[in-house]
Amino acid sequence: MANSPLTPGVVPGRLQPDDYTRNFADKAPPLTAHEAAVAADRCYFCHDAPCVTACPTAIDIPLFIREIATGAPAAAARTIFEQNILGGMCARVCPTEQLCEEACVRMTAEARPVEIGRLQRFATDTLMTREGHPFMRAAPTGRRIAVVGAGPAGLACAHRLAMKGHEVQLFDARPKAGGLNEYGIAAYKTVNDYAQAEVAWLMGIGGIAVTNGKALGRDMTLDDLRAGHDAVFLAIGLGGVNALRAEGEEKAQVVDAVDFIARLRQAEDLSTIPVGRHVVVIGGGMTAVDAAVQSKLLGAESVTMVYRRGRAAMGASEEEQHLASSKGVRIVTGAAPLRLLGDGAVEAVEFAYTRETETGLELTDETFRIRADQVFKAIGQKLEGAPEGIALSGRKIAVTGPGRTSMSGVWAGGDCATGGDDLTVTAVAEGRDAAEDIHATLMAEG
Ligand SMILES: Cc1cc2nc3c(=O)[nH]c(=O)nc-3n(C[C@H](O)[C@H](O)[C@H](O)COP(=O)(O)OP(=O)(O)OC[C@H]3O[C@@H](n4cnc5c(N)ncnc54)[C@H](O)[C@@H]3O)c2cc1C
Ligand code: SF4
Repeated sequence: MANSPLTPGVVPGRLQPDDYTRNFADKAPPLTAHEAAVAADRCYFCHDAPCVTACPTAIDIPLFIREIATGAPAAAARTIFEQNILGGMCARVCPTEQLCEEACVRMTAEARPVEIGRLQRFATDTLMTREGHPFMRAAPTGRRIAVVGAGPAGLACAHRLAMKGHEVQLFDARPKAGGLNEYGIAAYKTVNDYAQAEVAWLMGIGGIAVTNGKALGRDMTLDDLRAGHDAVFLAIGLGGVNALRAEGEEKAQVVDAVDFIARLRQAEDLSTIPVGRHVVVIGGGMTAVDAAVQSKLLGAESVTMVYRRGRAAMGASEEEQHLASSKGVRIVTGAAPLRLLGDGAVEAVEFAYTRETETGLELTDETFRIRADQVFKAIGQKLEGAPEGIALSGRKIAVTGPGRTSMSGVWAGGDCATGGDDLTVTAVAEGRDAAEDIHATLMAEG
């Protein structure tokens, strides 16, 4: 008999083929030209617009919306791409409800912002479906720069450097470029292989040679790169996952949420991805929501997300929490895992309620159990494989200003470096700004 949401254990194919198509369809389908015109019409084109200040890449939002309103979406896209070359992906994945749209004056006045994210997607999709790349390279400078990591930070840096006329060598440990755009972002936010299409489009600038399957620390050292290049930009993201530090964590079917999501993102056929009947996700951030929602969409009967603090402290925005609830995910707050129970494979998780005190979070004596045949750990990622000799601050590569590390000629940005907030758009801003600084430094050297 075929599997269903009620089949015990962790199994693939819990749903009918059509269910997968429906469940993983585009979360926010593109606006039509008419809808975009109506949405653009709501903008006041504010002077000193608060939405621009709230955008980490400082896109001139009123200008691009005006360009849409006047029937020039390709010009609007250029305005966006000048600041954010991954503006197409950011239009799909940015938590706009916490950034530009939260700051929009229409939000303050009417609790309904201008749909900046969807308008950005309308403009960028319009330009990207046309032939050719919108930017030209400057005359060759004869300088070679190595960029390590082809996620949003590395791609943005590589593009800006190539545009300035430098030769860029972009290395990534994984088989495909894109970083978490390709391996992490929820499938329903970026459908139709958009991450790869965007990488191919970005490469249209020329001057960027990509080498996949090559890892810093395994296949090359930082000294090698420094010797062969005029500058190095490190954008290696956060490859490690924090441990739960709960008893029984090593049991079968206790898995890293990021690995599960990567597997799901790379699957040609979603019905081949095994998922538990009862899933528990531990964590309160975007990764936790994505693992929980996608488990439910794969046909898990029950999915519970458990976070140790209150809802307001969750990394996932209110909108993401709402999305999870709307898909049938139960969110339990104020509880932390004590032990994972089961004979070989996990069968349940025991939690203790927590209490906020002046000295921090404490576990109470009150405990409860949740049935689970699959547990996803989503309590944060950590830096892995930082090159020797480079100074760290906390658990990230220490940087000052636009990504300068403790080592001369080496810059860093994106999730692996201090200062950001672990969002795609911030990684793009940091990659771009580091590229500008690398360029200024190399040109000043003459
Ligand atoms: C599951 C998940 C969902 C997310 N959803 C969202 C979202 O919806 N919206 C949002 O704004 N943000 C989201 N984020 C955060 C966002 O994806 C990251 O902030 C962003 O990708 C960081 O970009 P980056 O370039 O710094 O790193 P990454 O995207 O992690 O890219 C780093 C790259 O470096 C490569 N690399 C690592 N080590 C080496 C090495 N030693 N040698 C060579 N290459 C190496 C990796 O293979 C990878 O390609 C999500 C994160 C996760 C984990
Ligand atoms: S704050 Fe809102 S209304 Fe004002 S420019 Fe930005 S999008 Fe338009």
